Amino acid sequence: GNTVRLDKYLTDMGVGSRSEVKTYIRKGRVQVDGQVVKEPDLKISTTDTQVLFDNSILQYEEFVYYMLNKPAGVVSATTDNLCTTVVELIKEADNKDIFPVGRLDKDTEGLLLITNDGELSHQLLSPRKHVAKVYYAKVKGYVTEEDVQLFEKGIKINDEFTTLPSTLNIIKSDEISDIELTIYEGKFHQVKRMFLAIGKEVIYLKRLSMGSLKLDETLVPGEYRKLTQEEVNSLK
Ligand code: URA
Repeated sequence: GNTVRLDKYLTDMGVGSRSEVKTYIRKGRVQVDGQVVKEPDLKISTTDTQVLFDNSILQYEEFVYYMLNKPAGVVSATTDNLCTTVVELIKEADNKDIFPVGRLDKDTEGLLLITNDGELSHQLLSPRKHVAKVYYAKVKGYVTEEDVQLFEKGIKINDEFTTLPSTLNIIKSDEISDIELTIYEGKFHQVKRMFLAIGKEVIYLKRLSMGSLKLDETLVPGEYRKLTQEEVNSLK
């Protein structure tokens, strides 16, 4: 297995910042394979070493997976000079190099997977995989069966590309319509641009699912939770 410095291991586990865990180690609060160890730079195995902090066993996790109900007003990035980022909302994972899997627009809400698993991210975002994404939207104006047909055929966007067939479900057609749309690709502003191409404006957008992963509706915007093991397994 991999080896890692003891202080990094503890930081990755969320025990504290690098300087905090160094202090804990020097104070004798950390045991490695049954012995108190006071050297932060000790190299340990991530798989074959038993580490105790304050006498409790730590279970090393290389990868972490969070689902965030992204609120509007937050950008899908790791850092930003002006705006709060989605990664900054995940308070317990400071040092794990986490990033959002794809992007939602600043004003879009809903499901965003945040992880440090580059391989899984790559799988989910690969254009060849056609991972389904389901969005709920409020759209200005009446959405019609004709629109459903157009979306099913594929929508031509600005002579740039034609979207793959998508499934439009009309929940309510009215002056402000409610719809659900399933798309199988993830071009920039895709949902908004698909509606603009048929002369309609999206005024609210929320992602409900990505592949097998569904937004936990008990999360209010800005809240997050770790994925369950079953959720992680079914994404892979
Ligand atoms: N489509 C959009 O237009 N915006 C998003 O944030 C996601 C999909």
